Amino acid sequence: MPGSAIHVVGAGLAGLAAAVRLADGSREIILHEAARQAGGRCRSYHDAQLGMTIDNGNHLLLSGNVSARNFLAAIGGAEEMQGPDDAEFSFVDLASMQRWVVRPNAGPLPWWIFSAHRRTPGSRWSDHLALLRLLLPGGDRPIAEVMRCEGALYERLWRPFLLAALNTEPKEGSRRLAAAVVRETLAKGGVACRPLVAAHGLSAAFIEPALRHLAARGAQIRFDHRLKKIIFSQDRIDALDFGEETTPLGPQDHVILAVPPNVARELLPELETPESFRAIVNAHFKIPPPADLPPVLGVINGTVEWIFAFPDRISITISGADRLLDVPREELAQSLWAEVVRAAHIEKPLPPWQIIKEKRATFAATVAENTRRPDAATAYANLTLAGDWTATGLPATIEGAIRSGDLAADLVARSRR
Ligand SMILES: Cc1cc2nc3c(=O)[nH]c(=O)nc-3n(C[C@H](O)[C@H](O)[C@H](O)COP(=O)(O)OP(=O)(O)OC[C@H]3O[C@@H](n4cnc5c(N)ncnc54)[C@H](O)[C@@H]3O)c2cc1C
Repeated sequence: MPGSAIHVVGAGLAGLAAAVRLADGSREIILHEAARQAGGRCRSYHDAQLGMTIDNGNHLLLSGNVSARNFLAAIGGAEEMQGPDDAEFSFVDLASMQRWVVRPNAGPLPWWIFSAHRRTPGSRWSDHLALLRLLLPGGDRPIAEVMRCEGALYERLWRPFLLAALNTEPKEGSRRLAAAVVRETLAKGGVACRPLVAAHGLSAAFIEPALRHLAARGAQIRFDHRLKKIIFSQDRIDALDFGEETTPLGPQDHVILAVPPNVARELLPELETPESFRAIVNAHFKIPPPADLPPVLGVINGTVEWIFAFPDRISITISGADRLLDVPREELAQSLWAEVVRAAHIEKPLPPWQIIKEKRATFAATVAENTRRPDAATAYANLTLAGDWTATGLPATIEGAIRSGDLAADLVARSRR
């Protein structure tokens, strides 16, 4: 539809994915971002305290995250995601100092659970069947109501896996959301659960290539351009109010609103969205990792949950970390470093560090919050929603955000045929 424009509001992964999907079409793409940079909750920045570029939070992708990988392939960022050739997850238990590697086999027939060298120590093959209960048909319920949430396998594998995927204590997490993740990764075999990390940072993989891709296709990208108000008339949006200027919309123009849920609710007061959130805490230590530290190490019986080895630093992640929000930063850095020292065999005092507490990292992946997620289509003919909090069927993840952007783009493209 020449002459018409698509306004994408919010340049997080959802907005970027929508814009990238539409950028090869004939319509003008205008991306409006409130911040001075793109990426939202998934970005790199120069940290003055450390004197290096780090990510706002360590992000792990699994090879089964197909929408994310298609996005990376489309923008030319796929090479930036690095990981082992086969699915393998190294763990250390800080209580027993036992170390092991879980190695799911590549195919969907999970013979790895019969091998004591591939499965979690202390577990039996039959313990793995508990996960199947998540996949049974039926209504949504807290995971604890459908699956046994105790024992070695739960504590050493299912809990860390589900906590990372849901950013919510698995016992209270939504069975339906957990099942969606399991179906797209573990249930397909190791080929779909190779861990992938952005080797040179999130922006180098996801954000900068996307912006280059859009610029090359003539998309306009307006930073520092916060949408303040939407002006409606009956069942349409008439204009976008950015404070100092108002952009009127033509009859064929469309808006994709890809902002966080609290902002979407301010702009569309009748909208129902998730209201409860969970924090993620990341700590970054400026010290080269020891040569034998795996790229990603799961930590059991610690406050630290995952350790990431980057060439110039060691970073750690703690999900569902609301309990740590009020802990003084210095105290937290000391105690987290003490765990890294034990887990990674490093005999060094606390190096230069940074702690990032993302208070509202994701919506709480509970049954109740999952029912509050709106569909992409709205009551307004020229307004579509995107964001990891919309009804994607997935928890708030890179995969969910990108899938929501893809869906919004497809709805917009279809609505004009
Ligand atoms: C610390 C942390 C760790 C994570 N780890 C993982 C992980 O390991 N694996 C994984 O898959 N996922 C992970 N996630 C989740 C993942 O980052 C998010 O699901 C995803 O980035 C959300 O993208 P989004 O586009 O939906 O939202 P956002 O990234 O929130 O994007 C919304 C954008 O809208 C902009 N905006 C807001 N208001 C306005 C306005 N009025 N006008 C214009 N623009 C506006 C914002 O500035 C922002 O750029 C993690 C998240 C965090 C915070």
